[in-house]
Amino acid sequence: MAQYLGVKRAHPDALLFYRMGDFYELFFDDAVAAARALDIALTKRGKHLGEDIAMCGVPVHSAESYLLRLIRAGFRVAVCEQMEDPAEARKRGSKSIVKREVVRLVTPGTLTEDALLDSRRNNFLAAVAEVQGSLALAWLDVSTGAFQVQPVTEPSLAAALARVQPGELLLPERLARVAQSAAAEAAGAVTIQPNTLFDSENGRRRLESLFAVKTLDAFGTFARAELSAAGALVGYVEITQKGKLPALRPPVRMSEGAFLEIDGATRRNLELSTTLSGDRAGSLLGTIDRTVTGAGGRLLAERLAQPLTDADSINARLDAVAFFCDAADLRDRLRETLSRAPDIERALSRLAVGRGGPRDLAAIRDGLRAAGDAKAVLAVHGPVSDLTRTPAMIAAAAVELRDPNNVAEGLAQALAPELPLNARDGGFIAKGYDSALDETRTLRDEGRRLIAGLERGYAERTGLPGLRIRHNNVIGYHIEVKPKDAEVLTAAKGPNGEERFFIHRQTMASAIRFTTTELADLETRISRAADRALGQEMELFERLVAGVLAEAPAIAMTAAALASLDVAAALADLGNEQRWTRPLVDTSLAFHIEGGRHPVVEAALAKDSQPFVPNDTDLSNGSSDGQGRLWLVTGPNMAGKSTFLRQNALIAVLAQMGSFAPAAKAHIGVVDRLFSRVGAADDLARGRSTFMVEMVETAAILNQAGTRALVILDEIGRGTATFDGLSIAWATVEHLAQVNRCRGLFATHYHELTALTARLDGLTNHTVRVKEWQGDVVFLHEVVAGT
Ligand code: ATP
Repeated sequence: MAQYLGVKRAHPDALLFYRMGDFYELFFDDAVAAARALDIALTKRGKHLGEDIAMCGVPVHSAESYLLRLIRAGFRVAVCEQMEDPAEARKRGSKSIVKREVVRLVTPGTLTEDALLDSRRNNFLAAVAEVQGSLALAWLDVSTGAFQVQPVTEPSLAAALARVQPGELLLPERLARVAQSAAAEAAGAVTIQPNTLFDSENGRRRLESLFAVKTLDAFGTFARAELSAAGALVGYVEITQKGKLPALRPPVRMSEGAFLEIDGATRRNLELSTTLSGDRAGSLLGTIDRTVTGAGGRLLAERLAQPLTDADSINARLDAVAFFCDAADLRDRLRETLSRAPDIERALSRLAVGRGGPRDLAAIRDGLRAAGDAKAVLAVHGPVSDLTRTPAMIAAAAVELRDPNNVAEGLAQALAPELPLNARDGGFIAKGYDSALDETRTLRDEGRRLIAGLERGYAERTGLPGLRIRHNNVIGYHIEVKPKDAEVLTAAKGPNGEERFFIHRQTMASAIRFTTTELADLETRISRAADRALGQEMELFERLVAGVLAEAPAIAMTAAALASLDVAAALADLGNEQRWTRPLVDTSLAFHIEGGRHPVVEAALAKDSQPFVPNDTDLSNGSSDGQGRLWLVTGPNMAGKSTFLRQNALIAVLAQMGSFAPAAKAHIGVVDRLFSRVGAADDLARGRSTFMVEMVETAAILNQAGTRALVILDEIGRGTATFDGLSIAWATVEHLAQVNRCRGLFATHYHELTALTARLDGLTNHTVRVKEWQGDVVFLHEVVAGT
């Protein structure tokens, strides 16, 4: 009890999983909470201060699934293990208890197990810090080692969190004021930590020592708030992993406007990564994802979540996609090779934090081999040798595809064909790899052979052909005969005439069990050899893991190269098949789309063999054909207004993430912020579609959108009386046209607004055509100029 209470005191805010033999037990309030969350039986064990102690437990072998449910339910879990064998404890005296220690704090943002993670999504741990009025956001993925940091401002923080979607967000106590709004955007848990964890000087030192550098300058120039946020993340990972750090990559510093800013409401409304109902299928991501590896899927999701604003970087990505579009054969072969690559990033992280097993080593082996194959595939085409013809990104990836220090070859020699999940189960080192291990194993197997010999001898001596030597975990090796034959054994003498040669052990209903001194000796020898073999295997395992970790940075680079090739090839595959085109992305204020399509609606229609009607858009500032940068779109219900509006936003997002665009032609001057709102009447999204929410959000757009923004407004002002609504829509259009002067599409049912084009510069009318035919309305889904 003293031991338990001591450990619990150190982890008051976590459920304590207290290892007792084959179970993790929970006590007191922890037990009550966990039993309720897991729907398992609550029992009691002993008394404390005169009260029954509540208890519940989960078996160690199936603990992962319980952990997952507790983490999802918002708990943190401290895992307290037995640090020694009960036999060792007994050596200290019959009353001494087994040493126990918390080996890990399981929190939503620090998971590494495949069973607890989505293979196609990053699970970010993020931190917001503030130093002298400047804010910064840092985020990392413990399961892959990705690490980024960016300055933010209080108004832009929400959009940044909506972009990163951290599974867990750390805030210092003094920023607790933003906790509530941050939690709404972060979607994950918010963990308040002491201000001291966010000390920027300590943060700097933590980062310098983690990456073994004298100064961080080589990775970029970090402001104090950035050091504070990044340092807090590393500190928190140290705390939760009890000092074992994953193979983190050095932090990449993103500048403030590096990403196309998309706030949470716009993301939800455009259904970028999930649909309004929260599914991946049916979202833009679900529709465009053709990647063949988990890491590629994660990278694609990340790029879609944070499209870029730098035209050069966007074009570098587009070069890579274009390259694979033109090289269909190469692409197919590469994709086939990549599809055999296991998730190296996550295996590497598990090994680094000491939770890896033989199968993680095998994943590294197979991943590195696939990398070698991919390099060979690329080399046939010539990218590595002929750098002028190959996009820089692919050439760089090809260089990074390496098997550093022949790690894969080493692992291939070491590992057996069949691998247990857990190193402790043994049997994963290949025969012939280590002569000392082979010898021990021979000894062990020899023992087993000798047992078979004993069995034959005993059967002959007693004349009982049914006599068997068996093994179980409770009493070990034993001789088993039918009850009616027990007499024979009791009476039998040893080879040298010893009385009571067979010693009775156990009486069962269907069998009587005996042993002999010989058998007991042999058993000791076998189990000693087996223990020694396991010990030797564990040593070899540690050595192999150390070998892999010594090359961790290079292996992580290889993994990143595989992922980026996967994404480029997947986007090319999609582009080719769907007849997408390379967008022209530059620093102008153009927005000119010919034959634009909505990829998700098009895919849905294709299932019913319905065609999608492509439409043109030109919001280019100062475009020659007299069209405005702000379009007023009218048309009856069901005509296709929302689809048209959204498809233009999606084309911008796709182009700036570095994908081809669903259009015959697309010219986009980089958009810095994307806003999209649907009127209250349409807002099924959040179940709080009140007029007020719509107005607050609209005000935010009008206050924030600059000339580089793209604004998509659908039916603004519908949630109130007709004239109030019309006034609101009217004022909004005026403000967008005259003050914001941004590119935008404004769909409305208020035909009165169409008169505004006479007064407002840059505003033009467009309508979605319908025609009547034999008394029915036919939707043409065609957007044309006019009203
Ligand atoms: P409402 O005013 O009622 O919201 P809307 O004008 O916004 O209607 P949408 O919701 O965009 O209309 O489209 C209605 C349906 O018409 C879509 O679900 C889709 O099936 C079809 N549709 C829309 N645009 C096209 C298109 N360009 N080609 C083919 N079908 C389309």
